[in-house]
Amino acid sequence: MLMRYHIDTIPLWDAMKLEGECLLCALERKTELGEAERYLGASVMEPDTRIQVNARGFCRQHQAMLFVGDNRLGHALMLESHMIETRDRVKKPFARLRKSAHTFAEASLMSRMSKKGQSARGQLAELADELAGLSHTCIMCDSIAENMARYLRTFFFLVKTDEEFRQALKDSKGLCLPHAAQVLREAPDALPAKELPDFVDTICDLETKNLDRMQEDVSWFIKKYDYRYKEEPWKDSRDAVERTVNKLRGWCVGKEPYPEEKV
Ligand SMILES: [Zn+2]
Ligand SMILES: [Zn+2]
Repeated sequence: MLMRYHIDTIPLWDAMKLEGECLLCALERKTELGEAERYLGASVMEPDTRIQVNARGFCRQHQAMLFVGDNRLGHALMLESHMIETRDRVKKPFARLRKSAHTFAEASLMSRMSKKGQSARGQLAELADELAGLSHTCIMCDSIAENMARYLRTFFFLVKTDEEFRQALKDSKGLCLPHAAQVLREAPDALPAKELPDFVDTICDLETKNLDRMQEDVSWFIKKYDYRYKEEPWKDSRDAVERTVNKLRGWCVGKEPYPEEKV
């Protein structure tokens, strides 16, 4: 058990050592890139993978990632079989939608407020939700979430057991706001109650300090557009826009948070 934890702690330490704006964003992005590579690689043809892809498909963001990858044929193969399954899965809701629409129309204007009219309306909405549900599933999002849940367990394991990690966290640039929220939400279940105040203090201090730093950077970036500051150094603000976006919303723009040579 301990051994397994030891092996699991390596990626957390590696991400910490990158000294980026959020070690969890770094791990998430690393996982995401790995997943994209997996689906554009040989595993596309594995029957197990195909069954899962057929059932869940990919969300908008991950379709875009696959599209710019270098296996257009692989992407097409996954789309083809996912499309077959999707066409099959919309048949039932479509048939029921048509029926509910008739029921709704047949109720006279006055009686559309009637029980029958109301239930037809409810059914239409439900069926529309069912269709929307088909377009929200994503096998990549799901496996990223599974991986992140594992990383979070290890994160808390380290917070609980490793003084060096706790110190490194305190000295780090903190987390993005969404990941800070996530660890705060999970902390009461993941840590002994007596350790909770200290952990919450750490995260709140860390975020406050680092949001302040980010504010300074972005303000300096703006100043640099003023001719009076033209000769001043950029300090740390050249990439202030992307780092501020990533701090506020989680990594999505700018330099990769997990440099490729370290993957
Ligand atoms: Zn993050
Ligand atoms: Zn996705």
